[in-house]
Amino acid sequence: MTVATKARALLSEARVQIRFATDQLVAATVAGDHDVYEVRWDSFSARWECSCPELRGRCSHVEAVKQVTCSAGRVAR
Ligand SMILES: [Zn+2]
Repeated sequence: MTVATKARALLSEARVQIRFATDQLVAATVAGDHDVYEVRWDSFSARWECSCPELRGRCSHVEAVKQVTCSAGRVAR
């Protein structure tokens, strides 16, 4: 399963909770298979981070949050 496919599954199963989303900061929690992970992005570092053990910024949790927050056209990365 690719990261994008897994991200869509997380979204369709309503496992993604956006806590905060502005053009300065995005904070969300994602209920993964084994644990609940914190995903965040801020305009200072301009980088996506996730608390899961996968490689930073390449996991399905970040991808899922990106898909819903970037669709608003605010966060481009
Ligand atoms: Zn993750």
